[in-house]
Amino acid sequence: VTETITTEIVTKLEPKRMAVLTSGGDSSGMNPAIRAFARMAMIKGAQVFAIREGYNGLVNDSIVPLHWGSVGGIISRGGTIIGTARCADFRKRDGRKRAVYNLIKNKIDNLLVIGGDGSLTGANLLRSEWCGLIKDLVDDGTLDKECIEKYPTLSIAGLVGSIDNDMCGTDLTIGADTATQRILEAIDSILSTAVSHQRSFVLEVMGRNCGWLALVSGLATGADYIFVPECPPEDGWEQNMIEGLERGRVSGRRCSLVIVSEGAIDKKGNPITSSYVRQTLENAGHDARITILGHVQRGGTPTFLDRYIATRMGVDAVEYFYSTDEKDKEPALIGMDGMKVTRSPLMDCVKTTQSISTLIQEKKFNQVVDLRGSLFGEFYNIFRTCANLQRSGKSSNNHSLVILHSGGPCPGMNPAVRAFTRLGIDRGYKVYGAFNGFGGLAKDELQPLDWMTVNGWSVMGGAELGTNRSIPNDDNIQDIINVIQKYNISGVLMFGGYNGYVGISKLYKYAQKYPVLKKLSIIGAPGTIANNVPGTNISIGSDTCLNNILDALDKIKQSAVASRRLFVVEVMGAHCGYLCTMSSLASGAERSYTMEKGLTLESLTEDLEMFVDRFEKEHKIGLIIKSENASETYTTHFIYSLFKEEGKHLFDVRESILGHLQQGGTPSGIDRVFSTRLMNQYFNFLDKQLAETGEISMCGCIGFINGQIEFTPMDEMIKEMDDKYRRPHVQWWLDLDKISQDISVAPAQTNSN
Ligand code: ATP
Repeated sequence: VTETITTEIVTKLEPKRMAVLTSGGDSSGMNPAIRAFARMAMIKGAQVFAIREGYNGLVNDSIVPLHWGSVGGIISRGGTIIGTARCADFRKRDGRKRAVYNLIKNKIDNLLVIGGDGSLTGANLLRSEWCGLIKDLVDDGTLDKECIEKYPTLSIAGLVGSIDNDMCGTDLTIGADTATQRILEAIDSILSTAVSHQRSFVLEVMGRNCGWLALVSGLATGADYIFVPECPPEDGWEQNMIEGLERGRVSGRRCSLVIVSEGAIDKKGNPITSSYVRQTLENAGHDARITILGHVQRGGTPTFLDRYIATRMGVDAVEYFYSTDEKDKEPALIGMDGMKVTRSPLMDCVKTTQSISTLIQEKKFNQVVDLRGSLFGEFYNIFRTCANLQRSGKSSNNHSLVILHSGGPCPGMNPAVRAFTRLGIDRGYKVYGAFNGFGGLAKDELQPLDWMTVNGWSVMGGAELGTNRSIPNDDNIQDIINVIQKYNISGVLMFGGYNGYVGISKLYKYAQKYPVLKKLSIIGAPGTIANNVPGTNISIGSDTCLNNILDALDKIKQSAVASRRLFVVEVMGAHCGYLCTMSSLASGAERSYTMEKGLTLESLTEDLEMFVDRFEKEHKIGLIIKSENASETYTTHFIYSLFKEEGKHLFDVRESILGHLQQGGTPSGIDRVFSTRLMNQYFNFLDKQLAETGEISMCGCIGFINGQIEFTPMDEMIKEMDDKYRRPHVQWWLDLDKISQDISVAPAQTNSN
């Protein structure tokens, strides 16, 4: 500490002064979090600083002001532009004393830390020692004594940046989804060669104390076996594994996949290494290969979900620092519950998380799984069932169910049918697939689904069962009834889009006329890229679609490096602006045009003026994302022509209609595991009704509501549907458009550079 700070320079200034640092291992999504935090803070009038290289920057005064432009163009970049590090000095009180001095020197008393549990523990320690350290600095004569009153407390907010998804207090940590995606890309490539050569592959993924990545990638790829630290296998697992793989071979699998978490252990706490697993397989005669993914998992462009959660959390951190609510006085961990942002007491989350390593060492594995949250245990059990490792042993319950799709195809349909089949069989149901939707059901295009029919479907895009837009009507209802009676069907599960929801509501209404339908369970489950169906916050398929859109947008933006160009990009969504709003939020588009918001000549003129102003200020690129049906009159081509003509002195305009690439591709990790989870809960609902009433007759839809899977009865579901615009009356995400726009366009008074 070199400079003595006097009262003059510590005079506390309005506006608020806030700083952000990234610490510990990097993770993809840290940049969008920094961007959202910095810009939202600037909008509120705060002065924002970046602390470089984690706590090193705090100890050594590497603190730099951030401007609107310093965080421009980073939303799609992996890693962290402000650097991250591990800092030994900060672990010592003297290092933290220097940190306090440097914060006060820069008049900063709001600190956002993005890192793992270690980094957040450090932040909390700094806060708890804050007053004592200021007093020490005053006693040393380094700080003026007025600082004690001027800086009574350090406000701390924490976001968890960790690829491991290892923190309590949030469903998802920043970087975990991108890491999962990297793993899935690798496994999808490995599987094609493994199948060709009939090989066994052992894949090691990251996760020293947490098996999330191994678990989710195992579930999403239909792996044969996984090893995670939380759930060590029983003694004699080597033999069980060999027998399990053998059963798969006998039933027709051409390859085997074993995923090992780097921290995997056995019941005695001894490590289970990937090389030992390979050796075990080779000893049993397998042609076994090993792949250790390493740092590939950390890197690369953040996925849609990582950009989304990072942006929401970054914005909420600013709200937290401005909060005057008493409960916000304690340090907060900002996390996610489904698509919603949450705040929890930071140290409670850190302590619970850290207790997990102790419990693993003490071999209290049941408690470990409980503390990881309900999703972990549920995923683990689903994985074990679908991999044929842990079967319920239930005998037939004499109920037959049929699954069908309706509407456009969406990524996630095949994993859903796989889970429906295997989980259904496990619980004693006879399961059928109807090809080509309700039309196929009427034409008796049914096929019994057995365990191996769906082998390999967890990684497949498209819809093997086919899908179409026909729905029950007066012409085909009798045929549908005949088929239902012929196969003695107790339940129809429609996994699809809005059209399918209209279809199930029709079928339900026919029950008034045809009593034989009265006892039929009719359920809808959301499978559509557009996310425009009732009874759910999110539909399966939209995550993959948003990743496809972002991939295209990143490329489109890069194509403009040498020019001054405005892009008008049209995305799908029918009459629902979800894809448009979310892709804008996650790509940093300056404007998004949706039908919900509406388009007028006045708003277009304002936007034109805004873009002219931006390009005059040397901006090189602009992006407008437009939902396909945003306006009947102001079409994509009209908007392109308008901006091209009126902006031709400053910029060039390009129009791009993304089209069907949005519907295709292999499903994302999220779409694979959440479609599987949806099916698991479907059977939970049916089993419950069966146990309570002895029959299956529930009608309605199932969907994701605030992180849980909920059932909505049919009458309520129908009320939620806006048949004119084919979307729900109430849509939760509408307000996000404002956040997206606010943090993408510099306010007039802000220096945009
Ligand atoms: P990752 O999950 O990537 O390991 P992490 O935040 O847990 O991230 P750590 O290496 O544990 O990573 O911590 C990062 C930095 O945070 C440390 O180098 C140190 O500067 C600070 N830190 C961690 N734990 C403490 C602590 N108990 N007291 C003070 N500072 C700490």
